[in-house]
Amino acid sequence: MEKKNIDWANLGFSYVETDKRYVSHYKDGAWDDGALISDATVAISECAGVLQYAQTCFEGLKAYTTEDGHIVTFRPDLNAARLKSSCERLEIPVFPEERFIQAVSETVDANEAYVPPYGSGATLYVRPFIFGSSSVIGVAPADEYQFRVFTTPVGPYFKGGAKPLTIRVSDFDRAAPHGTGHIKAGLNYAMSLYAIVDAHKKGFDENMYLDPATRTKVEETGGANFLFVTKDNKVVTPKSDSILPSITRRSLVTVAKDYLGLEVEEREVFFDEVKDFAECGLCGTAAVISPVGKIVDHGNEICLPSGMTEMGPVTKKLYDTLTGIQMGRIEAPEGWIHVIK
Ligand SMILES: *Cc1c(COP(=O)(O)O)cnc(C)c1O
Repeated sequence: MEKKNIDWANLGFSYVETDKRYVSHYKDGAWDDGALISDATVAISECAGVLQYAQTCFEGLKAYTTEDGHIVTFRPDLNAARLKSSCERLEIPVFPEERFIQAVSETVDANEAYVPPYGSGATLYVRPFIFGSSSVIGVAPADEYQFRVFTTPVGPYFKGGAKPLTIRVSDFDRAAPHGTGHIKAGLNYAMSLYAIVDAHKKGFDENMYLDPATRTKVEETGGANFLFVTKDNKVVTPKSDSILPSITRRSLVTVAKDYLGLEVEEREVFFDEVKDFAECGLCGTAAVISPVGKIVDHGNEICLPSGMTEMGPVTKKLYDTLTGIQMGRIEAPEGWIHVIK
């Protein structure tokens, strides 16, 4: 298999069209067989449910080339299960979980020429998504849907080392109690754009959202879960019904306990405690962990002892261990690595 002529190390995180994508249509109460196609455009009614009432949700995962040359994905069963729960909350028919894993594998395989080589730092990002495609004018779920999977090669997240982020406590809320914060819906991102553009204008990398009901507890950022480390090396991660259950964060909890022998607490985290933590990181598929160096609450600065030049030592160990598992350098827990070829 000849790889595409791409400067892997200098790829950014932006869309690059690849050769094939998967599509399955839902019509008359059933998903069709699905197929790989070449056309990267979608033609739907101007009145489609997704365009009028944002009936859509998505997933994000990566395909890697491991040290021994296999192409793998990381825990795609958890993406399948999470898409199912997103669909249920949005009145979208569920795409069967085994078929999800199959569709992801077929799409990656069909775009093998775009899977970055081992050691390049780049990966193939996989974006499964589902949307209401039939026309809807009175507010109701659509009758027809498309499930699609496309891939795009993305560069190493940290070029020249991980620079700790400066984040701010947001005055905007992300997810209401009993709302949709726990599902991966496009609508959660649409309403976060104003807050992130405003944060960037003011020199911050990300927003820390607190719980909207009391504004006392840490929830997450627009697209990543928090992980803290206490001064006595305990890993603490916020628990809330309105946090999106990050697969990276859940995997890091296992790595902390079973690989590093650390104590882990998944519990409510009060913003008042944050000043006492030793390290802070943001977890998600894109970066695995981005270190946070500074948290600003309306002019009041919390400077993490890990500083503004590198990852804290526990964060670094977590990062190295999980990426080692993903790249096949460290033995994975049963079922974590899905070999495509
Ligand atoms: C996708 C996402 C994450 C990260 O989840 P991973 O499964 O680790 O990629 C965190 N928060 C939000 C709001 C997300 O949409």
